[in-house]
Amino acid sequence: MQVPASFDYRRATSVAEALELLRRYGEEARVVAGGHSLLPMMKLRLAGPELLVDINDLHELDHIELVGDELRVGALTRHRTLLESPLVGRYFPIVHDAEKVIADPPVRNRGTIGGSLCQADPSEDLSAVCGALHARVVIRGEGGERVVPMADFHQGPYETAVGVGEMLVQVRIPVLPGAGSAYEKVERKSGDWAVAAAGVALTLREGRIADAGVGLAAVGAGALNLDAVQELLNGGEPSEALYEEAALLASANCSPVTDGRGSAEYKRHLAGELTRRALRRSVARARTAQGTTGEA
Ligand SMILES: Cc1cc2nc3c(=O)[nH]c(=O)nc-3n(C[C@H](O)[C@H](O)[C@H](O)COP(=O)(O)OP(=O)(O)OC[C@H]3O[C@@H](n4cnc5c(N)ncnc54)[C@H](O)[C@@H]3O)c2cc1C
Repeated sequence: MQVPASFDYRRATSVAEALELLRRYGEEARVVAGGHSLLPMMKLRLAGPELLVDINDLHELDHIELVGDELRVGALTRHRTLLESPLVGRYFPIVHDAEKVIADPPVRNRGTIGGSLCQADPSEDLSAVCGALHARVVIRGEGGERVVPMADFHQGPYETAVGVGEMLVQVRIPVLPGAGSAYEKVERKSGDWAVAAAGVALTLREGRIADAGVGLAAVGAGALNLDAVQELLNGGEPSEALYEEAALLASANCSPVTDGRGSAEYKRHLAGELTRRALRRSVARARTAQGTTGEA
C-alpha cells in the first residue's frame, strides 16, 4: 500500500488565512484543491509537504463570470462546473471539447482549473487550452496580486510562477468577438491522459486569421504557446495549404518522448495532425460565430 509521509492539515476559511499559512510554512506548505494530482504524488513520495492548506471552503474562488471583455474563472472552479457552463460553451467551445475528455466524472467532480494549471504537468489538457486562449492567471500573495500570461506561468515541468506564500486565485480569458476554438485529443482509451493533444483559438478579420493561439499537450514542456505556428497563421487566409504548413511547424516545434503511450515519432505526427484538425474546426466555428458559412 502506498502511504504518504505524515503531514499537518489545515482547512482555510479565507484566502487571507490560506496565504498566512502558506507564508508561515514557506516551502514546506502546499495548497490542496481537488487533490487528484497532489495526493497520488504524496503517496508515491514524489511530494512531501509538511502542511496541506485545504482551500475547498473558499467559495469565493469558485466562480465563472463575464467582466468586460474577459471571462474570469476562479481557481477552485471544478472541471464539471466548466463543462456544464453555457457561458463557457458559448465563448470557448475549446474548453468543453477538452473537459469532455479529461478523466472521468469522479475526477471532474473534484479536480479544479487551478490545480490543473498549478500542477504544470505538460500532459494537462487545460494548460494547453489556456495557452491557446492566451489566458492570464492572477497570483495573490501578502503584497497583493500580479497577473501573469499563461506563456510565462509554467517555468518547466511541475514548476510555476507561483512563489512561496502565494496562490493562484483566478484565470482570465479574453473574449474576442467572432472567435472560434477547438481541442483535439488522442488517448489510448476513454478518460485516459493524452497520447498527444492540440488546442487552437483564433478570430477571423476580413476573412483572414487573427489572434491565433496554438497549444499542445503531452508532447513535452514549453508547447503551450507555439509562437512559430501562431506567427504563420496570423494574417493568413484559411486553406488546407496553410493548415498543412501549420501542422508541419507544430510537429517540428515540440519535444515528445517515447513512453508507454507511444513513440516520440508517433506523438510528433499527432501534434501536427491534431493541430490541423483543431484549426479546421476553429475556423468553421469562427465563421458560424460571425454568421457566415461553416459548421461547428
Ligand atoms: C485518474 C485520473 C485521470 C486524469 N486524467 C486527466 C486527463 O485526461 N487530462 C488532464 O488534464 N488531467 C487529468 N487528470 C488530472 C486532473 O485534471 C486533476 O484534477 C488536476 O491535475 C489537478 O487538479 P486538482 O484540483 O485535483 O489539484 P491538486 O491535486 O489539489 O493540486 C495539484 C497541484 O496544484 C497546486 N495547487 C492547487 N490549487 C492551487 C492554487 N489555487 N494555487 C496554488 N497552487 C495550487 C497543489 O499544491 C499541487 O501542487 C487526471 C487525474 C486522475 C486522478
